[in-house]
Amino acid sequence: AHPPHHKRMNYKINVCVRKRPLNKKETKNKETDVVTRSGEILYVHQPMTKVDLTKYLENLAFRFDYVFDLDDDNRKVYEYTAKPLVESIFKGTRATCFAYGQTGSGKTHTMGGEFSGKNQNCANGIYAFAAEDVFKKLRQPVYSHLQLTVSFFEIYANKVFDLLNNSQRLRILEDKQGKIRTVGLVDQVVNTVDDVISVLREGSRCRTSGQTSANSNSSRSHAVFQLSLVAPGRKTHEDRTHGMFSLIDLAGNERGADTMSSDRITRQEGADINKSLLALKECIRAMGKDALHVPFRGSTLTKVLRDSFIGEDSKTCMIATLSPGFSSCENTINTLRYLTSIS
Ligand code: ADP
Ligand code: MG
Repeated sequence: AHPPHHKRMNYKINVCVRKRPLNKKETKNKETDVVTRSGEILYVHQPMTKVDLTKYLENLAFRFDYVFDLDDDNRKVYEYTAKPLVESIFKGTRATCFAYGQTGSGKTHTMGGEFSGKNQNCANGIYAFAAEDVFKKLRQPVYSHLQLTVSFFEIYANKVFDLLNNSQRLRILEDKQGKIRTVGLVDQVVNTVDDVISVLREGSRCRTSGQTSANSNSSRSHAVFQLSLVAPGRKTHEDRTHGMFSLIDLAGNERGADTMSSDRITRQEGADINKSLLALKECIRAMGKDALHVPFRGSTLTKVLRDSFIGEDSKTCMIATLSPGFSSCENTINTLRYLTSIS
């Protein structure tokens, strides 16, 4: 058998960018929107007073696979990013969709993970749209042997906590077949979109109230929601899993020191997050270059995702979210640079 680290040919990640509108606070502070779009190119207008413009001049225009308009809704974002991946898991492969960006830029809003506040949109985000399309396909007779299960966990400080089991800490192991296993992870059978939403709600509550995990501030952890197509009759875990889609609301990518959160993240938390996002970048870059060695061991996030990445025909997309305001300029440029380096 192949070692699991064998190289993955023709790997290409689909990178799309979405900017949210200026919020009340930014408008009240008379912040200007510093990000503009022209087709698939984004421009960041950095006022001269903030930093030396010449330092940035060459890198102020960034090209991506797709750049959304301000009035594009979650449905359109879904159609351009996750929807084709839902199709692909029915061919038995694995797919991954990331939401990447600074805290407050709209990652959770886009995924449909907002379960409190006046903006809650759980039925109107990518999680629910993906589940809806999965159920639609499962009604076709050719897939009658399959069912959908979901799991939901978070990665905080390189540790895995099961959000569907009271933030139970889980270990990651490589099994005899060389596959990565998250030991004891709860898999819940779901039959309707409403089932999926209740599971998400339960997990989100756990995410914000758990004792061991990221506690009050979910921006410190990566939330991993997995939709698995399983054939319940089969003997081994491998035979049972027909395809899997991981939807990941990544931790805020801002540097620890300048987080806009009132509940400041610690230096250590910031370092852990930076390290895991860097590891993700290194893996994506290595796969894009058909490198012989991909450093999956660099973080828990990349370890957990290894089998999803290396599978033949597996697909990845990244939805990057941006805050438009002047005060987010540095973070926005950092976000766009990160994306440029992986796309
Ligand atoms: P993140 O998860 O990246 O920290 P959130 O998704 O929590 O950010 O978004 C921060 C706030 O901005 C929320 O109140 C959310 O409802 C709002 N928001 C985010 N994106 C949009 C958007 N595209 N349109 C309208 N409101 C948005
Ligand atoms: Mg969030």
